[in-house]
Amino acid sequence: MKLFRELKRWVLDLPSWRTHNPILTIESDDWGSIRMSSSQARDALKSLGHTIEANPYQLYDGLETNEDIDRLQEVLREVSGISGLGAVFTLNYCAANPDFEKIEEANFKRYFREPFHQTYQTYSKSQDVIEKVKNGVHGEVFEVQFHGAEHLNVNRWMRALQKGDKQTREAFYEGIFSPAIASSTGYTMEYMDALDYDNRSEITQQIQSLNEGLNIFREVWGESPQSFIAPCYRWGKPIEDFLAANSIYFIQGQRAQLHPKNEPGFSQRKIYRYTGQKNKLGQIYSVRNVIFEPSLYGQKQALIMAKQQIRYAFKWKLPAIVSSHRINYTSRLDQTNRESSLAALKELLHWVKNEYTDVAFLGSSALSERIKKTKR
Ligand SMILES: [Zn+2]
Repeated sequence: MKLFRELKRWVLDLPSWRTHNPILTIESDDWGSIRMSSSQARDALKSLGHTIEANPYQLYDGLETNEDIDRLQEVLREVSGISGLGAVFTLNYCAANPDFEKIEEANFKRYFREPFHQTYQTYSKSQDVIEKVKNGVHGEVFEVQFHGAEHLNVNRWMRALQKGDKQTREAFYEGIFSPAIASSTGYTMEYMDALDYDNRSEITQQIQSLNEGLNIFREVWGESPQSFIAPCYRWGKPIEDFLAANSIYFIQGQRAQLHPKNEPGFSQRKIYRYTGQKNKLGQIYSVRNVIFEPSLYGQKQALIMAKQQIRYAFKWKLPAIVSSHRINYTSRLDQTNRESSLAALKELLHWVKNEYTDVAFLGSSALSERIKKTKR
């Protein structure tokens, strides 16, 4: 079975873009999104009978703080690639969160969004995040890219709220939209996959949301994103048309794009991608081939997996494109979560540096430029 899996991976990578010099790109999703609002909210939901422990995202994934950005930067600056600068994190940003107060005021009849920079102002310890991230972008250890408007399937969530779904409402009153309780469907990402749909007619609204999200992104960061990563790797062709119309020509992803089917439920068809693949619009796909998620797998296991996958990538002259979500680096709910992930990250970066002295740390857009330049 393992041999079959490896053979499949090797075959799927055959047409991939290759590089003689090792390249390490770290892509980190979910920045700006609230997820679990606070440890008090988490405990309140627990006492209402919600199963919290089963899901690391409910235990650890809170909005990043000023200090989280400082600590991550410190670790990235400890190593330097051939450019002489630090390691680079691509921070994929969600541009908005629901505006809970306004939605409640409207008696759940209408959806309102709050731009993520306002969320930073309403949460404690996050007021300086934007300035700190901008410094990191300036210092070339961060790159900011687009992860959509809110990390939320607005239609499904609003329908559940309007129906008065008990668990969704309980989470709502704690400032949470992704309880992952999903008792009704058994699907834990119930409200997270923003661009999934039950009917194609929902796409127009999703594109409107993305458009608003893009405007917020541009306003805050002072530049347009060059790259997009779809929430939960689910998106369809019309989204690519929208991105191309907004000059976004680089699409981050995993091996399989999950294309929504035009039917109710959570069904998608898989489209296999490879790094460097180009579509008719001229957009280039990249495929994450390394998973580094200490908060999900534990420090030790996360390191074993990531080192193996990086070795494999470099052996076959593929760029190592690492998936490492915000959950690992946030301390809002649990300070030891951040510190143990950072210790693992530190070890990983030093290991890469020692094993591959000529490694280049590139953000996603720098990687895409490299691909474009050398594409046959
Ligand atoms: Zn995400």
